[in-house]
Amino acid sequence: MLGPAILAASRSDKMRRIVSAAPVTKPVVNRFIPGETVGQVIPIVEELTRKGLEVTLDVVGEDITAVEQSYAARDAYLELIERLKELELGETVEMSVKLSMFGQALEGGHELALANVRPVVEAAAAIGTTVTLDAEDHTTLDSMFAIHEELRRDFPQTGCVIQAYLFRTEADARRLAASGSRVRIVKGAYKEPAEVAYQDKAEIDKAYVRIMKILMEGEGYPMIGSHDPRLIAIAQELGRQAGRKLDEYEFQMLYGIRSEEHLRLAAEGHRMRVYTAYGTDWYGYFMRRLAEKPANLLFFLRSMITK
Ligand code: FAD
Repeated sequence: MLGPAILAASRSDKMRRIVSAAPVTKPVVNRFIPGETVGQVIPIVEELTRKGLEVTLDVVGEDITAVEQSYAARDAYLELIERLKELELGETVEMSVKLSMFGQALEGGHELALANVRPVVEAAAAIGTTVTLDAEDHTTLDSMFAIHEELRRDFPQTGCVIQAYLFRTEADARRLAASGSRVRIVKGAYKEPAEVAYQDKAEIDKAYVRIMKILMEGEGYPMIGSHDPRLIAIAQELGRQAGRKLDEYEFQMLYGIRSEEHLRLAAEGHRMRVYTAYGTDWYGYFMRRLAEKPANLLFFLRSMITK
């Protein structure tokens, strides 16, 4: 019951001001978002990769309101790529981007987001890595998939995300699997209406399994984004049944969540990528993590009381 209320709060400017200004918020935020600057996140990248993990880096930010912010988002990724170049880690470290941060919701936003993301994808390719387009709320997805298709003409490695809770996703998965895409499947983190999305957890899990099967049996590279032990075990079984080697798909989890499981899967020989978010505009990302697990909210509230 708490989840939808927190997701609603994640879009509220008033709540953003209250939560962001709370003096005790920072240590709790750091569990999920381990830095605010490139300088702070690079040592984290080095630590994760030393442990045999791969990384996808997300500069936090979304729902911008001015064109200048979209240029700033592009430049933040270009600055990051400059630093990654020095590490020479290639595709061990890729990037995840939210097109709303690149201006997608502004007037002429589809073209603006494409114009902003293209140089990032180009710069990533130049250092031997790639970019994955995150999935945001359902109203943004036609534009996201069109941008993904456009980018793939020159950069076929560009990935995208699909969300199991949406009714449309099985059809999207079939199309993407046939075209040989890199596709991350996740349950879905936004508040979506019953007209477009399953509301029941068991229904979402069943859809997730159907979609994984499509991806595993298809031509593309499946990226299994979940912390759910049952779905991870099913993914391993579907991978085996589809005759995939361990490096022909990968697992992905969020930084700060089930970290021991990251290491276990990597030790089993799986590719395990840790989605690591950093930056100052952490509110939306942080609130979605609270919504996914109400215990996180209790931890957050307790830290305010005991301070
Ligand atoms: P759940 O059933 O939610 O969780 C399974 C178990 O994992 C829980 O019992 C708990 O032990 C643990 N767990 C899960 N979440 C948390 C948490 N926040 N804090 C502590 N423990 C937790 N969503 C999108 O809509 N678009 C995206 O582009 C997107 N990208 C993602 C990328 C990655 C790599 C991952 C892992 C998730 C992404 N998500 C994205 C979020 C996703 O949609 C889910 O909201 C999130 O992964 C929780 O679902 P779950 O599969 O982990 O299963």
